[in-house]
Amino acid sequence: MNPAQLKDQDLLSTLRELAHDERNSCLRLIQHLREMDARKLYLRIGYPSLFEYVMKELRLSAGAAYRRIQAMRLITDVPELEEKVASGELQLVSAAQLQGFFQSEKKRNRSYSLDDKLELVEQLKGCSVPEAEKELVKINPQFQRQERPRPLPDSRYELTLLLTEELRYQLDELRHLLSHRNPNMNYVQLVEFLADLALKKYSPNRQRHRPRPIAPPGAEMKFMSRMIPAALRTEVWLRDGGSCSYTHPETGRRCGSKHLLQVDHIHPLRLGGKTESKNLRLLCSAHNLWRSELTFQPTTHAH
Ligand SMILES: [Zn+2]
Repeated sequence: MNPAQLKDQDLLSTLRELAHDERNSCLRLIQHLREMDARKLYLRIGYPSLFEYVMKELRLSAGAAYRRIQAMRLITDVPELEEKVASGELQLVSAAQLQGFFQSEKKRNRSYSLDDKLELVEQLKGCSVPEAEKELVKINPQFQRQERPRPLPDSRYELTLLLTEELRYQLDELRHLLSHRNPNMNYVQLVEFLADLALKKYSPNRQRHRPRPIAPPGAEMKFMSRMIPAALRTEVWLRDGGSCSYTHPETGRRCGSKHLLQVDHIHPLRLGGKTESKNLRLLCSAHNLWRSELTFQPTTHAH
């Protein structure tokens, strides 16, 4: 029925119903995302992560995707909370915040039992997100809601970073060292300078102009670097455009992720594959891991 024709009372009750439906369909989406995650189906169809899949294929905004995935992880760990999300008692944004907090605590090697988690949820009941954040930061000062650049109306971005004492010291040392170039260098200018320096070193396009090929980003390539000569690695890197080359055979969707790239043997080394350009490709770490799981434990991923 056209909302303009509803009586006030009916408008109120219809809105209540619609909000209820929306929470239900959100919860169903979360339940299906959990299955998607368990099957790692997003990898097969050419996405490096569940997050990218939800944003690009399901077309949810980054924030909406993040909240749903985080809520999914929280409910998976604490099934008792599913009911609270369904009823709206625990909002998605709060569920995502709590999950972010537990992840951050895990990084500090602090483990929470199921009861601990439920207790914290109970303790923060009724708190707004900023209020809850204040409480959570008291427990873990490193915890922050997000570290993503937030777009501003003037096409710049705002990014909040929590610096350790040591990093703050290092950055200031650099500013002193660079003060002959710019006596009043601010942090943005410092980051620009560092980004430029790092790109000169790591960007494959710039390596092209160097007299001797330099290995692409070091640490994550370490494992393979013993077996693949630097020149060959750079050749593969340039050929694959410095991005993951995994492509879904049916849709032709190419992953293209630039995160933790690794040089992979298409026909595995331990099965007799050769270290030559045509048997090598760039894969993101998610696709590399997935491919080797499929190759060496084919029965566990038979979806
Ligand atoms: Zn990939």
